[in-house]
Amino acid sequence: MDAERQLRVAVVGAGPAGVYAAEALADQSEVPVAVDLLDRLPTPFGLVRHGIAPDHTKMRALSETLRRTLDHPCVRFVGNVDVGVDLSVADLRAHVDAVVWTHGASGDRRLGIDGEDLPGSLAATDVVAWYCGHPDADRALVETALAGARDVVVVGVGNVALDVARVLARSPGELAGTDMPQHVLDALAAAPVERVTVLGRRGPAQATFTTQELRELGHLEAAVALVDPVGLDEESQVRAVARNLAVLREWADHAPEPGKASVRLRFFARPVRIEGSDRVTGVVVERTEVDAADRLTGTREVDVVPADLVVRSIGYQGRGLPGLPVDDRTGVVANEAGRVLRDGVLSPGEYVAGWIKRGPTGVVGTNKHDARETVHALLADAGGLPRGTGPDLVAALLDRGLHPVLLDHWRAIDDAEVALGATRGRARTTMHDRAALLAAAHPPR
Ligand code: NAP
Repeated sequence: MDAERQLRVAVVGAGPAGVYAAEALADQSEVPVAVDLLDRLPTPFGLVRHGIAPDHTKMRALSETLRRTLDHPCVRFVGNVDVGVDLSVADLRAHVDAVVWTHGASGDRRLGIDGEDLPGSLAATDVVAWYCGHPDADRALVETALAGARDVVVVGVGNVALDVARVLARSPGELAGTDMPQHVLDALAAAPVERVTVLGRRGPAQATFTTQELRELGHLEAAVALVDPVGLDEESQVRAVARNLAVLREWADHAPEPGKASVRLRFFARPVRIEGSDRVTGVVVERTEVDAADRLTGTREVDVVPADLVVRSIGYQGRGLPGLPVDDRTGVVANEAGRVLRDGVLSPGEYVAGWIKRGPTGVVGTNKHDARETVHALLADAGGLPRGTGPDLVAALLDRGLHPVLLDHWRAIDDAEVALGATRGRARTTMHDRAALLAAAHPPR
């Protein structure tokens, strides 16, 4: 390795996996490094900003911890650069010695059933992006679907499904203390949601939500938690499952309450068709059974759950970017402990961490260990990596007429969000509009 200069590393994606990778690189003394932490958005923190539900204020406060890494002298935040679009993968690689891909899994999975594309049928990724104020969220799509929605069906029983069900069922008062954009608060307050049904295609023992998130549904101000009492008497040796079953059993004798909305969990119910002519009117579900190996079979017994809005929350899907393919089936970049494989062969100087490495599973903290494994591999390889010969990356971006958002620019956005919140007595309001974010980042002189 050229001892004259630090190892230049680009980390692409400033979500938790990217920040943890930058942190692991910065917090070691084995190899001097200079890390550019890139993101296509003008703001850092990925799913901590645009995925963790806004009413989970304590979890969102994780951004306070993540921002310490952005202040590290070895780390430079470079937002508003879309790698593969603004700058090709090959061009990026010419400026640095190693790249760590950490751009996550932002795509949605499809049910593959009739009616899935009717107006009023949305992916959870659309709804989550909207309520978190993601600049690419399709406001019209979500707000039109929500406007007349009394009956909502959420498909899937993971934590994202519970987030969506809970946010839709919350009272305006419960959401006032969040950092949601004002138009989101207004649209949710105006939505006439009365019944939310959450469908699990297998039983309560196979649900992937966690107990804390499940319990929250039982403590909503304006909605009662209900459950269809099937499969609740099962005994489980798995502690997390036993805890979930205990919570659900407490709800088994709950009944709808006048003047309150309801969130009903219904298991052994597989959607087979979404009904409606010009918009969604219901979901046809088939009752299922689950065998000893947790596999489901359909019973051919069907019924229709009325729905004005259907949200499919059946997992995220990793997508490639131009110049970096993913496996179509798994949605991850092929890798060996974080070292990227192209056509089955190790690609020197290319690494991967987070959901695009292992798939969309685990909590935010899972990415810390994951990123460390990748950085360990990178540092072990450092001496033999081909060196980038191009000039400094930010100088090159400016030369191309791009407008990278650097740390001070991001701090200006941060201040602008706090100031926007203060206009309505809130601690912060997320700015959702890309032009407004960039105007706050680069105010006219
Ligand atoms: P997930 O936990 O994988 O849940 C996906 C759900 O969709 C499962 O119930 C799955 O059922 C169901 N599903 C998949 N295909 C289906 C189909 N064709 N028809 C009907 N149902 C189908 O994914 P997620 O909820 O998107 O969460 C992603 C990750 O983020 C998870 O690790 C999650 O814990 C994490 N997360 C955490 C929090 C938190 O900590 N508060 C919040 C949000 C997300 P089967 O099991 O039968 O496949």
